[in-house]
Amino acid sequence: MESIGNFHYRGGELYCEKVPVERMAEDAGTPLFVYSHAFIKDAVKEYKIAFRGTPLLLCYAVKANANIAILKLLESLGCGAEVISGGELYRARQAGVKPGKIVFDGPGKSPEEIRYALREGVLMFNVESEQELECIDALAGEMKVKARIALRVNPDVNPNTHPYIATGLKKDKFGIPIERALDYYKRAAAMSNLEVVGLHQHIGSQITRVGPYRDSVRKLVDLLERLRAEGLRLQYLDIGGGPGIRYDKERALTPERLAGALREVLESSGCRLIVEPGRSIVGNSGALITRLLYIKSNAVKNFYIVDAAMNDLIRPSLYQAHHHIAPVQLVPERDGTITVDVVGPICESGDYFAQDREMPVMEPRSLIAVMSAGAYGFTMASNYNARPRAAEVLVKGDEYHIIRRRETFRDLIKGEKIPEFLE
Ligand SMILES: *Cc1c(COP(=O)(O)O)cnc(C)c1O
Repeated sequence: MESIGNFHYRGGELYCEKVPVERMAEDAGTPLFVYSHAFIKDAVKEYKIAFRGTPLLLCYAVKANANIAILKLLESLGCGAEVISGGELYRARQAGVKPGKIVFDGPGKSPEEIRYALREGVLMFNVESEQELECIDALAGEMKVKARIALRVNPDVNPNTHPYIATGLKKDKFGIPIERALDYYKRAAAMSNLEVVGLHQHIGSQITRVGPYRDSVRKLVDLLERLRAEGLRLQYLDIGGGPGIRYDKERALTPERLAGALREVLESSGCRLIVEPGRSIVGNSGALITRLLYIKSNAVKNFYIVDAAMNDLIRPSLYQAHHHIAPVQLVPERDGTITVDVVGPICESGDYFAQDREMPVMEPRSLIAVMSAGAYGFTMASNYNARPRAAEVLVKGDEYHIIRRRETFRDLIKGEKIPEFLE
């Protein structure tokens, strides 16, 4: 394996920054998420450099990795947050993200969540339907505050990504059809408790080509011009998240490529730019470290059964996603390779990390790293099969810090209660 992010081999051993992965696995146990502090810092810097000259607010998409230590790190780097729920807003606030740097997205914000966000004073709500506009207007009226809003439009572009993470096609549930946006803006502007401040899109995730962004942002900038002609001047153009990273052989959509493709069209927007990256900030910062439990074969397949499972990292099962899988201790080449399915202990055939993958021949108890697990890893973890969720550590240079302890059995039944009649 060539190095991925800040994971590299030294003397045949996998390190994250300057810490041997094995040391952390011995200390914190497995399965274990390991993240590199320097990677996240550099990723943010790349965005800032790529978009220099454009007034920019980076609103990190909390759903990619919501650990409050990661959020605190991003806050300290000047990032705001993009949140999709009251819980994510709470996390961002606990990490110290200023409300004026938080955008609230999502097609189904509940009245309670809207009230909470209004109390906190978020920068803006990215609104996705007419009824949501009315709801926010009414709640802001009750609370005697003004709600800042943007409309999330659906620009109808094909981002060429997995269908589950394409969000800007006509048929998707997200946003307002762009051809009706002008009408919606007029209605919003007439509502007494709303302040119309922005325009938003999010066309999907793991997008590796610039074309879809160029097409959609051009449509947005056209719309801004039409709005201006109607006397509506917006302050924020929010182009969402979605830049793709390298999991396998794909070419990453780096901030530099994105900014390069948008430079010309953004110049005429006259707005402050908001970008909501998630995966591209944290995806390759992390790996999921797991221990090989057993090796077995049947008539057609070989299996490496490891102690992590789809409840820890569901991307392969959910999206047939590719993750590079690497031994933590390099195996001498003379030991050869074997084609295996790398699977977890869960009672589902979909519980796998890789199928028909060529791996070194390894001994039971060896450590294995599932790479590129920093985004949509822990945040999508569950307790399925009553498996306590993994621990998380953050590496900084030659130090590492446990930023979430492993769950215990006791955690599993927290909040549950046997009714009296059963006792
Ligand atoms: C998920 C999401 C993002 C982040 O997407 P990435 O692909 O992780 O960059 C940003 N904005 C919205 C509205 C989202 O739903």
